[in-house]
Amino acid sequence: MQQQILEGLLSGLRVGQSIAAVCRRGHVVEPNLSPRTWVEQSAATSSTNYPEKCTDCGAVVLTACISCGQPLPGGRPPLYEYRVRPFCACGAAMPWATRKERLYELQNIIEEREALSEADRLLVNEQIEALAREDLPEKQQNRAWQAIQRASPELMGYGGEIVLTLMSEWVREKLVGKK
Ligand SMILES: [Zn+2]
Ligand SMILES: [Zn+2]
Repeated sequence: MQQQILEGLLSGLRVGQSIAAVCRRGHVVEPNLSPRTWVEQSAATSSTNYPEKCTDCGAVVLTACISCGQPLPGGRPPLYEYRVRPFCACGAAMPWATRKERLYELQNIIEEREALSEADRLLVNEQIEALAREDLPEKQQNRAWQAIQRASPELMGYGGEIVLTLMSEWVREKLVGKK
């Protein structure tokens, strides 16, 4: 990528904030890369000073959001402590975001976007809790998604990116495939 574009992507960082390198499973490889170093390494004008594969699990190491290209915000002064976050500022889920984290983010988005009645809000929350279970059979997942869509018909418009990472192929076909 061009250096200029990369420098533009730094605008999301706070003053003095560094950039993190995290593997696709969420292991922190380097919490404090300097933005300058990140630009040079991403423009491939210098080689990376962190391993390109995670030394814990072998997964590919990321320093930017796959959706929008913004660098992963790292530690901030004065302590430069760093905590891995499941979502980018653009709203995209990071590869390491768990099913539960994605569902809770979806719940936040629905509550922000929709003026739900109290009854619908409770219904959506119940369905989200049900979907957060790892072992919910697909038929019930399908029913839960249908109930959520009834309560928030525009969901696929504003929350689609997250929803699609949560539905199994089968549920997706049932819900999204037949419009
Ligand atoms: Zn790893
Ligand atoms: Zn992003």
